[in-house]
Amino acid sequence: MQIPQALKAIGNGYKYSISLYPMKDARGSSRFRQALRQTEEQRTQHVQALLDERGPVVRGTFRFQGGRCGNPRCKCSRGELHEKAALYVSDQGKLRCTYVPVTDRERVQQLNHRYQHFRKARAALAKLGRKTLELADSLQEALTEPYPPPDRTTKNPEKPRRKRRREEPSS
Ligand SMILES: [Zn+2]
Repeated sequence: MQIPQALKAIGNGYKYSISLYPMKDARGSSRFRQALRQTEEQRTQHVQALLDERGPVVRGTFRFQGGRCGNPRCKCSRGELHEKAALYVSDQGKLRCTYVPVTDRERVQQLNHRYQHFRKARAALAKLGRKTLELADSLQEALTEPYPPPDRTTKNPEKPRRKRRREEPSS
């Protein structure tokens, strides 16, 4: 198990993953390497979504909602509301609402849908960016070999110093 792992590491150019002291598959580093590769594939897909969008897009949130026309004799004054198309756009922290005329509805809805798609890809990229860094840290930890090895430091930590101290006055 140890040798194929080491050869694979050489093939990938990760020379530092080869252990001086034989360990079990670099303490699960392949798990993080696989996750990192998957994350990168997902990133590629989302970047492609951004590249595929040629615009134009319409910023904000498009939705249909009930509204009144203002005519007191109209059915809407009795609660039977008209269907209105509205576009909500955040502008310097404030939410601004624009009613979209019937003639523009289809186009604005479509272009806003593309905007939403773009923003989702962007949000996914931000999330994957953070995940990539976390995985890089986990991989680093899995690959890292403590030096000096923990068992060496605990075996005879004080003996050599004590010897020197005793020797120093006599020399
Ligand atoms: Zn009305």
